[in-house]
Amino acid sequence: MEVQEKDELKQLRDRLAVTPKLVWDQVDQAERAAIFAYGEHYKTFLDRAKTEREAVVEIERQAKALGFVDLAGKEIGPRGYYNYRGKNIVLVVQGRRPLTEGLRLVASHIDSPRLDLKQYPLYEDTDLAFLKTHYYGGIKKYQWLARPLAIHGVVIKADGSRVQFSIGEDPHDPVFSVLDLLPHLARKTQMDKKVTDAFEGEKLNVLVGSLPLGDADTKERVKLHLLKYLEDHYGIQEEDLISAELEVVPAGPARDLGWDRSLVGGYGQDDRSCAYAALAALLDLKEPEHTCLALFYDKEEIGSEGNTGARSFLLNEMVEILLERQGESPQARRRVLMASKALSADVTGALDPDFPEVHEKRNAARLGYGVCFHKYGGSGGKYSTSDANAEYVAWIRRIFNEHGVVWQAGELGKVDEGGGGTIAKFLAVYGMEIIDCGTPLLSMHSPFEVASKADLYMTFKAYQAFFKAG
Ligand code: MN
Ligand code: MN
Repeated sequence: MEVQEKDELKQLRDRLAVTPKLVWDQVDQAERAAIFAYGEHYKTFLDRAKTEREAVVEIERQAKALGFVDLAGKEIGPRGYYNYRGKNIVLVVQGRRPLTEGLRLVASHIDSPRLDLKQYPLYEDTDLAFLKTHYYGGIKKYQWLARPLAIHGVVIKADGSRVQFSIGEDPHDPVFSVLDLLPHLARKTQMDKKVTDAFEGEKLNVLVGSLPLGDADTKERVKLHLLKYLEDHYGIQEEDLISAELEVVPAGPARDLGWDRSLVGGYGQDDRSCAYAALAALLDLKEPEHTCLALFYDKEEIGSEGNTGARSFLLNEMVEILLERQGESPQARRRVLMASKALSADVTGALDPDFPEVHEKRNAARLGYGVCFHKYGGSGGKYSTSDANAEYVAWIRRIFNEHGVVWQAGELGKVDEGGGGTIAKFLAVYGMEIIDCGTPLLSMHSPFEVASKADLYMTFKAYQAFFKAG
């Protein structure tokens, strides 16, 4: 083949065929530095926001520092926040155009899989004290055994006063742990069983102490000692644990992963990678065309139920507040929402080279290839998904391309392999255009999820382009 002919074929291929692009090949030195700088802020966010409540506190703190006003109060301003029950928060930046021309929404979730304490958690057995738990969200139970754990959350006393917990993060703090069986004795109980049978939810009990109070005649001495400790240090009694939301999460900070420090390993990146990207993009926004909202939902991991999940009417309320503040009739709410465009900002599972059999490699998200959007999710026959309209996907492609966002399109797993849901379908019912768009993760839903710093940054850049688009 002639050299000239070869060149022509290459040009033809470049013009006609789609080739996924590795972010690292697409960025210049300045953007490479921005990727690593973003990773530092991101890790700090992960460490400060290990629960939905902590995420709300941190998001509100950052917004207030930049002059966002409380939309539940009387203050007026083009930038506001709305904190709902300390577990949801919405940030708003007012646009130039009227609300009825539609909003730009980036909706993420700030809850993550974990172990929640039961109503009567504290008990003693074999001179050891434990806390009973009920796991929250989709976990592989064995991943939570024999590792340091922290306890975060609140206890609300009957008089309404609040006791805040965060123990196990400071290097001087004690940590907690769920025990695992020694391999020497595990053959029948674990090794010979299916994984789903080998690890039982009821055995996810957290070891919290072993020191007895009183003498051998004292009943449940270790438990009593801990109750006294809780009263002395926190002013709470056993009944107070009934009105509590105490969450057991992996202890310790998010870390750089790899000799080249190109990855972040840490807990809760589903979905705080997207939540942080939405936060950073919105805080950075100046006078956009359309009014922009970043919504941070709770309860996604258990089906978006409850009054703080995406199935609640929070968005309705939010839009009515915005209409009223602009002297318009709340009646216009439905029209505003139908004219809106949204990103369901959630992570996806990336192609794992050790388990290629669960992915369809031509349509699987790859680590390092940028933010990933899913036209649809669901499983086996596209069940239970919001399938984004082709017109909208085209619009997304255009704005991402125009703003230098390195992106990929994907699908979670092989057709009949399983699947997952996001909040997209709960917002789609309002009539808005919506598509899933977020960071690809490895070891998703584990205590140590892995993301590429390049993809994290491109997620931020994607949300920024989306907010800015006309
Ligand atoms: Mn998620
Ligand atoms: Mn999830």
